[in-house]
Amino acid sequence: MPYGYHGKILQVNLTDGTIEVETPDEAFYRFYMGGSALGMHYVLKRTPPKADPMGPENTLVLALSVLTGAPVSGQSRMTAVAKSPLTGAIGDSQCGGFWPAEMKFAGYDAIVIQGKADKPVYLWIKDGEAELRDASHLWGKITGEVEATLKQELGDDKIEVLQCGPAGEKGVRFAAIISMSNRANGRTGMGAVMGSKNLKAVVVRGKNRPAVADKKGLNALAKWGSANFADSDVAGMGKYGTAEVLMGQQKSGGLPTRNWSSGVFENAEAISGETMYDTILRGADEGRQDRDGRDTCYACTVRCKRVVQIDEGPYTADHIYGGPEYETLATFGSYCGVSDLAAVAHANQLCNQYGMDTVSCGATIAWAFNCFDEGLITTEDTGGLDLSYGNAASMVKLTEMIGKRESFGDLLAEGSARAAERIGRGTEDLVVAVKKQELPAHMPQVKRGLGLIYAVNPFGADHQSCEHDGSYEGGFTHYQDRLSQLGLTEQQERYSLTDEKVRFALLTEHLYSCLDSVNMCQFVFGPAWHLYGPDQLAAAVQAITGWDVTLDELMRVGERRLNMLRAFNAREGFTREDDKLPKKFTRALTGGRTDGFLYPLDRLETAKDTYYALAGWDVATGAPTREKLAELGLDWVAEQLSN
Ligand code: SF4
Repeated sequence: MPYGYHGKILQVNLTDGTIEVETPDEAFYRFYMGGSALGMHYVLKRTPPKADPMGPENTLVLALSVLTGAPVSGQSRMTAVAKSPLTGAIGDSQCGGFWPAEMKFAGYDAIVIQGKADKPVYLWIKDGEAELRDASHLWGKITGEVEATLKQELGDDKIEVLQCGPAGEKGVRFAAIISMSNRANGRTGMGAVMGSKNLKAVVVRGKNRPAVADKKGLNALAKWGSANFADSDVAGMGKYGTAEVLMGQQKSGGLPTRNWSSGVFENAEAISGETMYDTILRGADEGRQDRDGRDTCYACTVRCKRVVQIDEGPYTADHIYGGPEYETLATFGSYCGVSDLAAVAHANQLCNQYGMDTVSCGATIAWAFNCFDEGLITTEDTGGLDLSYGNAASMVKLTEMIGKRESFGDLLAEGSARAAERIGRGTEDLVVAVKKQELPAHMPQVKRGLGLIYAVNPFGADHQSCEHDGSYEGGFTHYQDRLSQLGLTEQQERYSLTDEKVRFALLTEHLYSCLDSVNMCQFVFGPAWHLYGPDQLAAAVQAITGWDVTLDELMRVGERRLNMLRAFNAREGFTREDDKLPKKFTRALTGGRTDGFLYPLDRLETAKDTYYALAGWDVATGAPTREKLAELGLDWVAEQLSN
């Protein structure tokens, strides 16, 4: 028996209803490790070029890693990969929670899903046995109802349910896959892929925990994390969740406001993590924040997840749908000029009920507000809705209309870029997206290396694909030991975009890319402020699998995954022309510390030259070269590119 994983990958063909088990060898697992890299092995082999992302030819992979389910913080994660209905490029998205660990205990390392069922089904996996069951009675139901129904029908409260909500069924292009009714594979529309296959849910339960090679070593690492947590940089996240960063963003002039017109929001405090803690966190009214309002993923000591409860007022929130993250507070809050925390919490709940990415949903609504503000759309377009900035009622209403694909919400369900193409009239100039994916709430105007990664990232703008600039600008001295493990040894100038900063961006991108393949949470392991550093990531993989892996080998896994994503896009016809930042960035920010700030778009093109050259890619096209793919052991991928 291998350590850390089962050596079993479930192959599900929904068209003919067959289920088979593939048993790759140890070399396969060590080469890919899991998550995104493992998923891309199947997507590249099984999804034909130019496939319809919402057609039966698209292959959806739900992949764990060789670490999932082991008793250490940060490991209970699953990566979903498939061609994205939002971007038309590769889609890639991670979730945490308890579903990933439970799936491992149910006996499998990944599920490869092909075809399309002729009627709604769900996949039930228990202790190694898998079967497809009828889900007609679940179709159209919101996530909380589906979860409650399945628990009752299967007679087990401890099952874990992963599902596409009604938004995925209706093909909302940024539909998410939801588990526990409050955790999301949020980005790139993986819920729409699941819905297009008539696969309503994947339900798991099991007792088969893979053995750990070095229990003592892993135990020591877990104990080190618990002992050092209170003094670590993630301790605040334990108290306030990811919303801890909101006021810091505001102070630095980096809180996207009114669809990225400004980096400061005059009512930021009203939607901050501190206000959430004091007012709507579950138990706040009884001073019980630490008991009920903090949730976690399986075996994680950080406990960064929020749970809110609002029983009265125009906007309620039920704790089963969790609570808003920083990105959600920003996209439904400052992006839209909305300072009503209860309204934002309610919009978060709607996204978890219908199954939608809160980033793309809130950002698309903010784009519509911006168009309304500039007179490019009117109440004639919106069906009478007043989309003035700050109108919380319209923001909430639109969220629900998108989830149901009703009237103006039906258009916004296409995402801001497609909606703008449809409307025209200059609304295209206000879209804040890369490769049609809306930007998360970290501003390239103040994080210029991150801006480069937003532009070149294969699945559109993403804030969790490299380290943010602050860690190697002001924070360098503090994080020097960890950054030097990646060969990054010199402090970088604030707001610069030098060749050396490009190297920082690429190397930290390789590490983050590895984290999405070993499926480790990026709040727990990373190159700077994280609970554990890069060397401890290698120690965790060694202890769990028994392999003599080094950090270099792990960085190689990250580089391999990045090249596979990029090769998929090249196959689809994407080039360096698609690696660009939004036109709205030619407008200077207004107000606060970043008044007058612009992103250096002219410098971006030379930074891309440096980045592609360092990555070993063709500088003219941005595609991985045959030599680079061969060096990474991906000759078969190179063959696909030359066909
Ligand atoms: S840090 Fe937060 S998101 Fe990450 S594993 Fe822990 S509880 Fe989950």
